[in-house]
Amino acid sequence: MERLIFLIVCLGAFAFFFKNIFRLVATICLGRAENRFDNLWSRCAGMFAYGFGQLRVIQKKFGYNHYLLFWGFMTLVLVNFEFLLKGIFPAFSLAFMGPLYYILMFAADIMSLVVLGCVVLAIARRLFFRPYFIDQTADAFLILCLVGSLMIAFFGMSACEYRLDELAAGTYMLVTRGVALFLRGSDTESLHASMRVFWWIHAIVLLFFMNYLPYSKHLHVLTAIPNCFFRSKHMVATVPRLQFKKGEEFGISKVVQFRWKDLLDFMSCTECGRCQEVCPASNTQKTLNPKKMVHQGKVNLFTNSKSVFANRPADMLAPAPKDAAMNVPLINGSDKSVSKKAIWDCTTCGACMQVCPVFIEHAPKIVQMRQHLVMEKAEFPEELIALFENSEQRSNPWGIAPSDRAKWAADLNVPLVTQGVQAEYLFYVGCAGAFDSRARQVTTALTKILNAAGVSWGILGNEEKCCGDSMRRLGNEYVFDKMAQANIEQLKKYGIKKIITYCPHCYTTLKNDYKQFGADFEVIHHSELISSLIAAGKINPSSDSAGRVVIHDSCYLGRYNNLYDQPRDVIKACSGGRAPAEMERCREKSFCCGAGGGRMWMEELDGKRIYLERTQEALRAAPDTIAVACPYCLTMYEDGVKDEKAADRVKVKDIAEIVASSIS
Ligand code: SF4
Ligand code: SF4
Repeated sequence: MERLIFLIVCLGAFAFFFKNIFRLVATICLGRAENRFDNLWSRCAGMFAYGFGQLRVIQKKFGYNHYLLFWGFMTLVLVNFEFLLKGIFPAFSLAFMGPLYYILMFAADIMSLVVLGCVVLAIARRLFFRPYFIDQTADAFLILCLVGSLMIAFFGMSACEYRLDELAAGTYMLVTRGVALFLRGSDTESLHASMRVFWWIHAIVLLFFMNYLPYSKHLHVLTAIPNCFFRSKHMVATVPRLQFKKGEEFGISKVVQFRWKDLLDFMSCTECGRCQEVCPASNTQKTLNPKKMVHQGKVNLFTNSKSVFANRPADMLAPAPKDAAMNVPLINGSDKSVSKKAIWDCTTCGACMQVCPVFIEHAPKIVQMRQHLVMEKAEFPEELIALFENSEQRSNPWGIAPSDRAKWAADLNVPLVTQGVQAEYLFYVGCAGAFDSRARQVTTALTKILNAAGVSWGILGNEEKCCGDSMRRLGNEYVFDKMAQANIEQLKKYGIKKIITYCPHCYTTLKNDYKQFGADFEVIHHSELISSLIAAGKINPSSDSAGRVVIHDSCYLGRYNNLYDQPRDVIKACSGGRAPAEMERCREKSFCCGAGGGRMWMEELDGKRIYLERTQEALRAAPDTIAVACPYCLTMYEDGVKDEKAADRVKVKDIAEIVASSIS
């Protein structure tokens, strides 16, 4: 009779579980198509490293607790498989595995204790030393208690079995034997009764846990490993190209307009809060909290998917129809929606994506929601009106006459590729380098270096146009699309193969974004070029005029393009071999200056200014010079040192300026 009851409970639980799995898969399928099945070997390698190996999880000390919990569970999978089958077929045992079985039981016994310890530690952490980026939710406690009770039931059941001499691997189960000591003197009947009680607790908790997962924050137990498999190979510095066809809706206003991998992202969040911890917006009291944004995406998806399925019950595994009605809007509806303010707070710095243990891609989602607000609704911060108009009409953010673009080069005898000069490199000056008075000093410094090293180079002069970076990050994809196509056509017309940029935003746009438009230029940042010129002995910086230098990593240079060493090598060469000082948050952990993602052109009204937060951090390193390799960072730090009244003692310089002043 007991077996029959268990069989019914078990079948019911598994039927419900697989129904939920099917529903989850169907929900993911609502998203738009995207090929994430390429490079299968490297995907498998990533899945093993980051999914099973938890490489990102253990980048933080407490991550080891999760690591042990995860591996404890993995060890217990086979044991629980045996447990369930034994409940239906009492004669079933994995003992046919021979010595392996005893090793498995030995490991499961030890790991159960480890898991129990980890659960206690996790509960204590949430109760007594909870970091601010972890939420105190009943759900988390419930899951931890379920896991803990599963382990306690396991030991209770095994210890009784051991005492009853019914535990085949008992000799090897050291913890169980220890627990069994407490049962000395118990009679067979009470041992048997206790064993059945523990057995049922274990069974019910196990089956309940399995079915509770899809409804809880621990959904990631099912989705995180696939999400690691389907991750992007590189940090995503861009958004997919749009096709501007009549009748299409541009950008994302409904959750089902995301690609299916985005929907899997929403389901994979562990709510660890690491993205919140590093986000410059969250760190300076803005509305944006990337963890919350992902959670809102998930809740929005689950709420809206119900109505989509209800309208087409026979066609579950297909993308949602274009006209699918959504009960809850994705943007600014309720707590199940993402706030507009949050969408505009993002600097697209990528810090969140860099730390996310399950490779969730936050920034492209935000940019795609911006696309909807800009192109469909014309709802964007007022100060962007001028930027959009200027960029579209005059191809620079300030609306300065395009005929002034090459003014900086008036007395410098700079070769123009537009006048037939054959040059190995095109120096793509960029809007800041051409128009901003401070950044023009960097442009001039770079020309001095190029000439000193005998590099064959030229510029487009007044024919150069804005690369469109800010347009793309701000969601004005239509204008960006036109700019990108026109630029590529022009660069091809002049036979350009190699491009030097000084601005990391031009760099990443020409190098990464333009690929979607068929461009294949070799794009080199000035930090790469200068460091290679120094290494080749073509320039020999000598003096040490910058004093103590602290270096800042621009997000679009370091995080998105992995150029960390080159700017450091340059400074080292100008400092008699001395490496630059580092800020507390440096290299991959660098903190944005606040200007990326088009934030350069927007007011920062809420909370602390991001540039101030970063400048204060730089000043804590007691520098004489703050070295940057980006015109936006240059502006932000200059504002920062002025605000901090440190401008008379701390200089902000681009690495090109440091080099130019140290070569004769
Ligand atoms: S990209 Fe940067 S600013 Fe945007 S959510 Fe991520 S960490 Fe925050
Ligand atoms: S998005 Fe990633 S980093 Fe942020 S809370 Fe979720 S799992 Fe953690």
